Amino acid sequence: MKIVNVESFVLHVPLTPPITDAINSPTHWGLPGVRITTDEGIVGYGYTGTCAYGDDLIAGAIDRYYAPVLLGKDPFMVKELWDGMRFGQLHWVGRAGIAHMALAAVDIALWDIMSKASNKPLWQYLGGHKSDGIKAYNTNGGWLNWSKERLLKDITSYVEQGFTGVKMKVGKPDPREDFERVKAVREAIGPDIILMIDVNQQWNVNTAMTWGKKLEQFDLFWLEEPLNPDDVAGHRKLARELNVPIALGEHVYTKYAFRDYIQAEAVEYVQVDCTRVGGVTEWMQVANLAAAYDLPVVPHVGDMGQIHQHLAAATPNAIMLEYIPWIRDIFVEPATVKDGRYALPQLPGASTEVIPSFFEKYRVR
Ligand SMILES: [Mg+2]
Repeated sequence: MKIVNVESFVLHVPLTPPITDAINSPTHWGLPGVRITTDEGIVGYGYTGTCAYGDDLIAGAIDRYYAPVLLGKDPFMVKELWDGMRFGQLHWVGRAGIAHMALAAVDIALWDIMSKASNKPLWQYLGGHKSDGIKAYNTNGGWLNWSKERLLKDITSYVEQGFTGVKMKVGKPDPREDFERVKAVREAIGPDIILMIDVNQQWNVNTAMTWGKKLEQFDLFWLEEPLNPDDVAGHRKLARELNVPIALGEHVYTKYAFRDYIQAEAVEYVQVDCTRVGGVTEWMQVANLAAAYDLPVVPHVGDMGQIHQHLAAATPNAIMLEYIPWIRDIFVEPATVKDGRYALPQLPGASTEVIPSFFEKYRVR
């Protein structure tokens, strides 16, 4: 099989209503990605996820620097192609960031092609592990811009729908307000529902130490991204001092950076995201690294779960998966949660193929 065409795209899917966390206020979810065509007629789709900024740069990296590496090559040589892109012309300027997210999109499209050619959904092509689906937790009720009333209404409605885990954002200018919101949510959902809080990097070590200790009484499953994602030493202090486990990874770019976190015992739930590291190829390496330390993997879903449902279903130490249904309607086989569990995709591929009418409607580049 040979790659005969590589075409980047950018889709912007509107979020209604717009949401905020402690650092982002997106109005659209961005999908800069790539459509790769083979001489056997199989077409692979891959994308990464953004707040709809920088997408043109990601698409440009694919067209200018990665397409020439791919054309004429066999997509089944994905690891060799990955090295060719990673250590190619962009290496000098981009071992992380835009270049690496562009690599993720390409790598995902190649795994989509390989699993389609094998007539298997990606989770089976990778070697399946969870035939009864994946436990889901819901992030979509806990945004920072939600009033306390809406927060309680949305989160309890997801519990009523069957979710046994929910996450809420914290990181208000006054942490006392966070405390009141977390207290109200715990009272509303009762003691049996798993509750996570996400700071989105808003605190420093002192704030995280003080408020992490105060919030522990609400039986939190984890404290997510309390600090700057480059601060391994700070997270290590928190992991040692706090009883609530530390979760992070959505802003960690490479297996080497994960190795540093894991070796320092600075992360307790590994939230590796295939759209942030270099696609499926590097995601599996990080998940296996975590397995060797007996650490659970719970991916962040920059892809909104389409690809990660496959990866979680193929990974023994992936214990749960985030659910955010913002863009599910655009896909040929949308990620589907029923009674709090992801149902497993059945169509061949990585569930990245977009319905043509939505592809045209939301395409901006
Ligand atoms: Mg997060």
